[in-house]
Amino acid sequence: MNAPRSTASDSPGSVRATGSREFPIAILGAGFGGIGMAIQLRKAGIDSFTLFERADEIGGTWRDNTYPGAACDVPSHAYSLSFEQYPGWRRKFSPADEIQAYLLRLVEKWKLRDHLRLGTEIVEARFDEAAGRWTLRTQGGESVHARAVVSAVGGLVDPALPDIPGLESFRGERFHTARWNHDYDLTGRRVGVIGTGASAVQVVPSIAPQVARLTVFQRTPGWVVPKRDAVYSDRTRKLLARMPGLLHLSRGFQYWMSELFGPIVFLDAPRLSAIGERLSLAHLRAQVKDPVLRAKLRPDFQFGCKRILISDDYWASFERDNVELVCDGIEEIVPEGIRTRDGTRYELDALILATGFQLGLAKAPFPIYGRHGRSLDEDWSTGAVAYKGLAISGYPNWFLLMGPNTGPGHTSVLVYTEAQIRHAVAAIRALRDQQLRYVDVRRDVQDRYNQQIQRRMQHMVWPTCHSWYLSPDGTNHSLYPGFAFEYVLGARRFQPREYELARFDGFTAPSQ
Ligand code: NAP
Repeated sequence: MNAPRSTASDSPGSVRATGSREFPIAILGAGFGGIGMAIQLRKAGIDSFTLFERADEIGGTWRDNTYPGAACDVPSHAYSLSFEQYPGWRRKFSPADEIQAYLLRLVEKWKLRDHLRLGTEIVEARFDEAAGRWTLRTQGGESVHARAVVSAVGGLVDPALPDIPGLESFRGERFHTARWNHDYDLTGRRVGVIGTGASAVQVVPSIAPQVARLTVFQRTPGWVVPKRDAVYSDRTRKLLARMPGLLHLSRGFQYWMSELFGPIVFLDAPRLSAIGERLSLAHLRAQVKDPVLRAKLRPDFQFGCKRILISDDYWASFERDNVELVCDGIEEIVPEGIRTRDGTRYELDALILATGFQLGLAKAPFPIYGRHGRSLDEDWSTGAVAYKGLAISGYPNWFLLMGPNTGPGHTSVLVYTEAQIRHAVAAIRALRDQQLRYVDVRRDVQDRYNQQIQRRMQHMVWPTCHSWYLSPDGTNHSLYPGFAFEYVLGARRFQPREYELARFDGFTAPSQ
């Protein structure tokens, strides 16, 4: 328990006045999380926020991922904000452009444009303990003050380029899935795709009919299950618009089904995993007739250990005459194409990197200095940890959306994000209404939480194989080990006793 304390700068005059009257809030990132946060602040009657977005448009993932076939593999009614349900989704699984249009509509509906600062990258943040506020520095050298910061910068944003020798030497057209070059026409070209993850399974079937030859370079095959996509007819959409209760029912059904089948995906329970593996292998048999090809496509790790791939047509693409699967391992990239370890050269006109993203949530997005000048880079040097993935001890008034250990392997990430938003709004209200200088999650509370998370992690499937979920030392700082409802029940409430609360006239110690 912290004893009450006062400092020389406990009466910061103008800061205090600014804090209580205007209470500036910075939201970093205008993707799903940032927009959801802004809407909930508006609903709470708080308008003193600014959304900083480094790109020139809102949307995050759904602005950046415009590759052919880009879509969400979580059903549309579940992959939308519960407080902004949309009856107009045209498909069970929405394409990226429809999701981006949904987000743009929300920005207009909630009049967020006036709060947006596009093309403004925050490059440093520093907490002033006496003033109870953050100073954010922009790329352009401007300083901005905020009493609270909500970091919604996303976890999978910056493309990861493969460390393959000769990558730069390739003379053809080369781009990453999240930086698709729409000016380059793939028609009739010899195209190579490196990677067979969630992005690749959408790209491959979409471009296969268009290109002359498609060579897919696979390092690890993934478990694929049927998507069973469907079109929502005009009639269905009209009905959903007239009867919003049906939309909530549909969402609830999709959510509870994913929770019901969740243990098959996240538990290290081979008997449960076998259910998923059988479903996937039946799908493989139905899609691929050639047993040799089937053997190459069959994963050898436990179901759920890497992200489950959801597609109705990925495996079937390899039945096409113009699509080839290469599993020999890439030796190097040469000016004309790719040379594999067995010495074969594949001549290519274009090379598509479906090689995933740098794990943004594993490190501070830019230098962040908390209380006593602590640096988040240093605090996270052995792995990203936070309390419920949404607050970091020593970094007061700073809230995270989609922070460490909040990713799901089995359901919509937005369920988690909404709980974080709710928590952050409640904390901000407490800060503002009670005129607190800061709220800082207690270190003992954060440590206990993370010990429990890592204990539970031992019963999960993820430590059993190599994936982007794990940090180099094998610890999982990405996913939440359990059901979404457990996370939501634990995270959605702001509990003052879990925080150290500082007033402008000195500390008040939280009850234990
Ligand atoms: P990913 O899942 O990380 O897959 C990257 C692929 O590239 C893997 O097959 C990987 O092989 C391969 N790879 C990486 N470096 C390589 C190298 N040097 N040589 C050969 N192969 C290499 O990336 P992603 O497909 O872009 O998906 C990333 C995440 O984004 C997903 O897990 C998911 O969370 C999200 N996503 C979601 C959706 C959706 O519909 N909701 C769609 C797309 C993406 P290894 O497996 O051997 O490492």
